[in-house]
Amino acid sequence: MTKLWVPELLSPAGNLEKLKIAVNYGANAVYVGGQKFGLRSAADNFTMKELEEGVEYAHTRECKVFVVLNSFLHDEDFLELADFITNLDRIKVDAVIVSDIGVIQWVQEYSSIEIHLSTQASCLNAQSAKFWKEQGVSRVVLGREVSIADAAKIRQEGNIEVELFVHGSMCIAYSGNCIISNFTQGRDSNRGGCAHSCRFEYSIAPKADPNKRITNFFMSSKDLNGLSLLESYRDNHIDSIKIEGRMKSNLHVATLTQVYAKALAHLQIEQSLGETNRDNLLSECEKIGHRAYTTASLISPADASSIYDERDGEEQSFQLVGNILESNENFLLVEVKSPFYIGGELEILSQDGIVRTHMVRSLQNFYQENIEKTRPGSLAFLNPLEGACKADIVRQRVL
Ligand code: SF4
Repeated sequence: MTKLWVPELLSPAGNLEKLKIAVNYGANAVYVGGQKFGLRSAADNFTMKELEEGVEYAHTRECKVFVVLNSFLHDEDFLELADFITNLDRIKVDAVIVSDIGVIQWVQEYSSIEIHLSTQASCLNAQSAKFWKEQGVSRVVLGREVSIADAAKIRQEGNIEVELFVHGSMCIAYSGNCIISNFTQGRDSNRGGCAHSCRFEYSIAPKADPNKRITNFFMSSKDLNGLSLLESYRDNHIDSIKIEGRMKSNLHVATLTQVYAKALAHLQIEQSLGETNRDNLLSECEKIGHRAYTTASLISPADASSIYDERDGEEQSFQLVGNILESNENFLLVEVKSPFYIGGELEILSQDGIVRTHMVRSLQNFYQENIEKTRPGSLAFLNPLEGACKADIVRQRVL
């Protein structure tokens, strides 16, 4: 059967463990950060040795690795940059994601690595895309302010690959060009220190009448969810769809990577996802911690309806229980991340795309003593489950 073209699925990988999860759950490419030069200083990030292991792991499973170099650099930052770039070239990363023209020149001088323009550069039009292509950029990561239709136009007129966000947290500023955290938290958003200050509650009051104070989450955006528009991404030939979230959990990476991998696999053989598939996959998206969803600017510019002003927290219906270290006909061995009980119901997010329900009928600690409840950081033996495999993620409903 001839398969239809679908976009590349690009998943976040905040550390080596998440990289392996993203690869195992169906990512075609992952983006990662080194210890420096990226925008997520709170993510674990990779040492060069871990990057090397990650690249080898991904490449042997036909997955690409892109490295972010999109922090806003000052002159002193360039002292270690050449070495870093040379090493990335040596370990054969597939591309670097860059926002600064000076860094682009250094990548070209010290390596032959492909260059993707970071969303930080706010490329929003075809003319800009043409300019960046002339500078040697092979792909632009478009700002979240761009619609799918605009992205298609930029791709065609700019004659360049385009990458567009499909899921995750939103920036209320032009993709990262924001210094609220610098002033409110003393943390530089554009050098990896964003404290998500836009999501805080703020008060404003007219000077003439301070009693008319309004307190609200004025700048707090809902989360992007473009799953229902996936056919449009494909039909408009968006080269790569990107899931946000290098700082998000293992469960988050596994769930969303699997959701979009399954959706894309379906679209390789069918024109449409179909209502049942779409509803099932959307309900999977509800199982991770998230704010209310929006399609933001994917169809028309985001407006007041994209603001999340109901509450400060995230909704989370499931939590990570752990991951399977061994599965055979006698037991499942689970590395426990959060407690669960005998008699409880777990869900195994299997790498074959099936979500399996599992009742905990027997539970033993590492010394094979019967226990009622597991402890985080321990190993636990459970009754076996057909189809469950090593490295599958285990989750349970939050009560
Ligand atoms: S504070 Fe908000 S708007 Fe500013 S960079 Fe961070 S996420 Fe973006």
